Amino acid sequence: MSRVLAVAAGLLLTPPLASAQATAAQGVADPRITALVASVSPERLQATATKLASFGTRSTLSDTVSTTRGIGAARRWIYDEFKRASPKLQVAFDRHMLARQGRITREVELVNVVAILPGRSARRIYISGHYDAVNPRGNAPNNPGAGAGAAGGDAQMRAEMDHNADAPGANDDGSGTALTMELARAFANSGLEFDATLVFVTWAGEEQGLLGAMVHAQTLAAAKGTVTANFNNDIVGSSLGGNGIIDAESVRIYSLGPEDSMNRSLARYIARVAGVYVPSHTIRLMAREDRFGRGSDHSSFTAFDFPAVVFREANENYQRQHNTEDKPEGMDFRYLAQNTRVNAAAAASLALAPPAPKVTTGGGTPTISRGTTGYDAALQWEASPGAAGYRVYWRNTWSNDWERSQYVGNVTRFLLPNVSIDDYVFGVAAVNAEGHESLVSAYVSPNRRMQEVQIKK
Ligand SMILES: [Zn+2]
Repeated sequence: MSRVLAVAAGLLLTPPLASAQATAAQGVADPRITALVASVSPERLQATATKLASFGTRSTLSDTVSTTRGIGAARRWIYDEFKRASPKLQVAFDRHMLARQGRITREVELVNVVAILPGRSARRIYISGHYDAVNPRGNAPNNPGAGAGAAGGDAQMRAEMDHNADAPGANDDGSGTALTMELARAFANSGLEFDATLVFVTWAGEEQGLLGAMVHAQTLAAAKGTVTANFNNDIVGSSLGGNGIIDAESVRIYSLGPEDSMNRSLARYIARVAGVYVPSHTIRLMAREDRFGRGSDHSSFTAFDFPAVVFREANENYQRQHNTEDKPEGMDFRYLAQNTRVNAAAAASLALAPPAPKVTTGGGTPTISRGTTGYDAALQWEASPGAAGYRVYWRNTWSNDWERSQYVGNVTRFLLPNVSIDDYVFGVAAVNAEGHESLVSAYVSPNRRMQEVQIKK
C-alpha cells in the first residue's frame, strides 16, 4: 500500500518522513526501502551462483552452442531469469562484434545481458557484475599463482589457455552476477517508482580487459547518456580469506579519486545509507581505484567520467580465483546477501532522489565565491529537477568526509558568513519532498596551471 493510500484509509502504519530535511544521509529510514532490502534472499543467491558454476566455464571465448555448457548457455539462462523476474524489466542482449585484440585471440561476439527498469528520467543507475569466468592455466587445476596477479602475462595466458576448460567462477564473478540478478528482481517487484532508470547488467569480457563494460560505456558516452552511478560488484561472496581469517561483517568499496570526485561522493553516500538500512554491516571505504594492481569494470565507467565504485569482499582467497577451485562450496551466501542489501539500500535511495545539483558554470568554473564582503562562503548551484530543497555540506580541507551540514530549503544560493572558502571544502545535495537525497556535488578548486619561465640564453 502506498503511503497516500494508507493515509486515506486511516491506516497509517508507518509515519511519513518528517520533511525534506529527514534523509537517509541524516539517519532516517524510508520503510519502503527497508522492505526492499529485506526482500533479498540468501537462498536465491546461492541457487543462482550454483547454477552459474554449473555451466562449467563462462569464458568469453568458450562454446556458445551447447545448451548446458559454456558462455552461450550461461547468458541465455541469465536472460531468461531476468525475463522471469518481472514483466517490468526490459531485457536485452547487448551485442558487440570484437576484432582480435589482446587476450581476445580470435574475432568474437561479446554479449552483455541487460535488464532495464525504466524510471521517470533517462539518467541511469547501474548495478553490475561480470558473468564471464576464466581459468588461464586451462586443465592444470590447483596451479599455484594462477590468479590474475601471477607472473607470466598475456603471452603465457594465451599460449596455455583452453577456453573450454573448467572455470566455474562461482565467486569471480558469479557472486556479483547473482547479486545483480537478485536486485533486478527485488527492484522490479518493489512497487516503487524511481526517478532514475535502473540498469542491471552482467558483463562479458571482464577477464580479457574489462571489454564488455568498456564497449558499453563508450557506446553510451557517444550517445551522450547520463549516468548517476555504477555499483559494480566483483568477488563479493566469500567471508573466508585465504589467510584463514573470517570476516562476514564488512565489505570494501574502492573508488577512484581525487577526493572530491563523484566516485568518492558515491562511496561516501553508500557508507552513510548502509549505516541506516544495514547497520550490522561495516563499510570500509578504500581511497584507491581498486586493489593493488588489479581491476574491474567500474574503471570502464570512470574512463568516461561516469561515477562508479567497486565492491570487494573483506578478505579474499587468491587460491580460489581463476581456477577450478572457485566453487559455490567456498562461498558464504549470508555474507553475499549482506553485500547485496548494501547495494539495494544505496541504489534505491539514490534512484528515488533527484539528480545531484550542478555546481559549475558551462565552462566548468565552480560557482562559489567569497561574496560581496570578500570573506564569506557564497555558494550557488543549478536547480535539480524534482528537488524540494538542498543540503549544504562542508569540511576541513584536510579531512576526507563531510563534517558539517545544513538544510537550506528550496533555494539555489546560500551564504555562510565569515566561513573561508580557502579553509573548507563545500558541497551541496538535492533533496526531494520525501527526503531522498542525491550525491553531494563538491566545489573543486581548479589546479593552477604553471608555465615554464623562459630563460634568456
Ligand atoms: Zn572478477
